[in-house]
Amino acid sequence: MTDYQEEQDIVLYDVADGVATVTMNRPRYNNAQNGRMTYLLDAAFKRAVADDDVKVIVLKGEGKHFSAGHDIGTPGRDINESQDRVGMWYDHANKEGGEFLYVREAEAYLGMCRRWREIPKPMIAAVQGACIAGGLMLAWVCDLIVATDDAYFSDPVVRMGIPGVEYFAHPFELPPRIAKEFLFTAQKMGAQRAYELAMVNRVVPRDELATQVDALAKQVATMPRLGLALTKQAINFAEDQQGKRATMDAAFAWHHFSHAHNDLVSGDKLGGFDAKKMASANKSGDA
Ligand code: ZN
Repeated sequence: MTDYQEEQDIVLYDVADGVATVTMNRPRYNNAQNGRMTYLLDAAFKRAVADDDVKVIVLKGEGKHFSAGHDIGTPGRDINESQDRVGMWYDHANKEGGEFLYVREAEAYLGMCRRWREIPKPMIAAVQGACIAGGLMLAWVCDLIVATDDAYFSDPVVRMGIPGVEYFAHPFELPPRIAKEFLFTAQKMGAQRAYELAMVNRVVPRDELATQVDALAKQVATMPRLGLALTKQAINFAEDQQGKRATMDAAFAWHHFSHAHNDLVSGDKLGGFDAKKMASANKSGDA
């Protein structure tokens, strides 16, 4: 265990009028997602699923940004710790070589995101500010995305030599040529462009995010629970028939080849990029 203690609960849960709100609460670190947050999010979603009075789940981030992505550098980074797993993969923490990260990411990233995508209740992401890399995965598993006009999206992990984040939905969230540009350049995509490309449902002023998401959630919440669940399943099924699930399986293997390659060449699975180095590379690449 690390000695580091969070200052507050890092995931908050609230229910009102048929809508459960799950809040990532590490604003000091732009809601960087560590293992602990991952499992607290899962517990919160499970609670919302189990409550028949909850029709819709809203996922939001406290503070200036929705999510800076996976935790690759805060004092609360806990990648070496065992977690109380929810999937059937064994513990990664005592494994070595490529197995350590493959097993962890199969459970904590790809596995969790798939699990959350299949939650049988509509999920709405409320996105403000940065939505980067692992943050994209959290927004993408939601059924609807409402973004503020100052929100932006990016997946800069190609800088690490890695072909995009673990939940490889890029060619489904964006047209393939745009997905390539998005990954090849690592540039930020603004909310308006994301709206034009149908990656987000609505763009709203920042001070209206909470009220507009609430209004949308309450509107969806008037529908019958099972009707919503079956509708969601039908559309997810259509995406999988178009190859979404199979594409992710293939991309996950390439993703892990790159982690292993990085480790062999540089001794670091992320190719020597920590949060700081990544941030400065992103800044200089923005032009
Ligand atoms: Zn990875």
